[in-house]
Amino acid sequence: MLTNYCNYKCSYCFGKDIMFPKSPRQLMTRDCFNGIVDWVKEGPSDRIFHLMGGEPTLNPDIDWMVARLLEEDMNILIFSNLATPGAVELASKIAHLPVNWVVNVNDPAHWNTAQRKNITAALELLRERACLTFNIMPDKDDNMWALEYTQKYHLNNNIKVGFLLPTYNQTNVALDDDEYTVVAAKVTRLALEAAKFDIHLDYECGIPTCAFTDEQLGILWRCGSQLQSGCQSRLDITPEGDVIYCLPLATLGSKHYTEFDCYNDACIWFEQRFAPYRKLGRRIECATCNLHNSMSCNAGCLAKNLINCKNVNLS
Ligand code: SF4
Ligand code: SF4
Repeated sequence: MLTNYCNYKCSYCFGKDIMFPKSPRQLMTRDCFNGIVDWVKEGPSDRIFHLMGGEPTLNPDIDWMVARLLEEDMNILIFSNLATPGAVELASKIAHLPVNWVVNVNDPAHWNTAQRKNITAALELLRERACLTFNIMPDKDDNMWALEYTQKYHLNNNIKVGFLLPTYNQTNVALDDDEYTVVAAKVTRLALEAAKFDIHLDYECGIPTCAFTDEQLGILWRCGSQLQSGCQSRLDITPEGDVIYCLPLATLGSKHYTEFDCYNDACIWFEQRFAPYRKLGRRIECATCNLHNSMSCNAGCLAKNLINCKNVNLS
């Protein structure tokens, strides 16, 4: 996380528990960034860095950080809303380099003039380096704009969709249980339409497989948008160097990266501590569900499943 603040104020933001204004503003420094890069190099890792926020392009050192990672031959993915002047500037400098972007977009009908100018200018530069991601809402929007933008700007033909997940403290807007099936039906319709243009869906974490009917799962599979469901996170690191499992679980436990020998040790620490809680599942059926037992569903989002647990102890 290069910042813990953002130019947007999305009601559904699942970083709210530790983002400004709930927490003081934080900006990752070059020193902290260098320390984390060296720490990741210490142990086994897949050498993939996700640069995110808040909004990472609000960190004035982001181009220096990208250059540092390229020197180290790391794979880089930038998660940005592209609506800042800094995003356009960065895109114009690095669009020709091996850096991919995941672009978090809301319905373009709600963009203001400045946001529209920045987003479209950056998409024009990034083209297939950028793929769109957004949450499917339980509303009337059919999300066809995502297909239009992907074609118009020649973007990567995978679109990543998510369900609105809650933070452990429920500080954001998230789906009610009875809205999961509504969103699942919308995802299926979008996947069917997308397949006509050779566009396919990928999925954010935390989507329970049983939100979909068997027929819907079959349709997704047939049109190249097979559901992947899991609750597994690349660990996040706050701008001050604290390792968290993911933003919705941030307030349940964190340790400074220097307290772990390497990234891999941090992953093991979190997985061991969350393992007993994963057995709780999302609903009673998870206890006997083959998907849960094989860990191929993981019972949706752990942050959601833990909301009524008041004695979680990760120490
Ligand atoms: S708890 Fe799991 S599913 Fe929910 S946001 Fe974190 S990693 Fe994703
Ligand atoms: S593990 Fe739980 S949430 Fe996932 S498909 Fe099975 S019953 Fe549904």
